[in-house]
Amino acid sequence: MVGLSPVMRSPLVLALCAAATLVAGAPSRAQADSMHVVESGETLSKIGKRSGCTVKQLQRANDLSGTTIYEGQTLIVPDCEGEDGGGKKSKKVAADYGLDDGADGGKRGKANLKVAAKKGQSIGAPWSGSLQNAMRLPAGKGYYIRREHRAFGTTHAVKHIIKAIQAVRKRFPRVHKLAIGDLSEKRGGEVSLHRSHQSGRDVDIGFYFKKRPKGYPENFVGFEDAELDLPAMWALLHAFARTADSPNGVQAIYLDYALQKKIYNWAKDHDVPTKLLDSYFEYPDGTGLVRHEDNHHDHFHIRFKCPEKDTKCTN
Ligand SMILES: [Zn+2]
Repeated sequence: MVGLSPVMRSPLVLALCAAATLVAGAPSRAQADSMHVVESGETLSKIGKRSGCTVKQLQRANDLSGTTIYEGQTLIVPDCEGEDGGGKKSKKVAADYGLDDGADGGKRGKANLKVAAKKGQSIGAPWSGSLQNAMRLPAGKGYYIRREHRAFGTTHAVKHIIKAIQAVRKRFPRVHKLAIGDLSEKRGGEVSLHRSHQSGRDVDIGFYFKKRPKGYPENFVGFEDAELDLPAMWALLHAFARTADSPNGVQAIYLDYALQKKIYNWAKDHDVPTKLLDSYFEYPDGTGLVRHEDNHHDHFHIRFKCPEKDTKCTN
């Protein structure tokens, strides 16, 4: 696990995330694909019926050869309604994904839907980039999305976020809703109050508290302003940090140094191996995945690697 270049760590690149803490509100919902976490007893055809997709469409969107799915599995649910190859729908898909209108009686329309199946293309770098065929972080159990119009990312980023929250709720089913701050806008690019968050690989995430503070999760709350739920905080951080060795995993986490110390010491007191803690935290010896940045006393900034084999995305 390595530290990041001075440019990416410059206080300005990240300090502005903090400003995002203050503003609320979202424009109207735009149509986009989504994710579904399989519940016990669910089948592909049941999920298909509910979402207007055929089993074939669900298999294609999730690279499934068979129909076997399991509880807790995260599935991509494409926006299937009206797949009529060149009709009104493919015009919409074309518009959604920046493709031509497919007004040729079907061929191009189908092509559009094929392209649409390829999700979450991150272009360029987080501080100078864009996003194509974005994946939306859907509303889900256990978290609150502060700004819907900034809830777009690459597929692997969205999947990791959902999985990390699920992992915490599995261990601590009674935790309060978690505040999810900005990812990227639908087509990426510059986002006010941020210098990064431009290419679908960044997300700001709030904290877990013993008692949900007033105004949370609509707004982030600092770790100095309410008593943290340290077991849940460790579980969340661990759920993200343990992906750092995997190809599509976490690339960096930014968090206030004093808060790193709190979580580090709690984990150490609860028999988490020091070797693992040192590989995670900049505290106390200066190396590690989790780095201090100013203004990260009320949220984690999590950055994911470029998707494997993705040549357009730069780390
Ligand atoms: Zn951020």
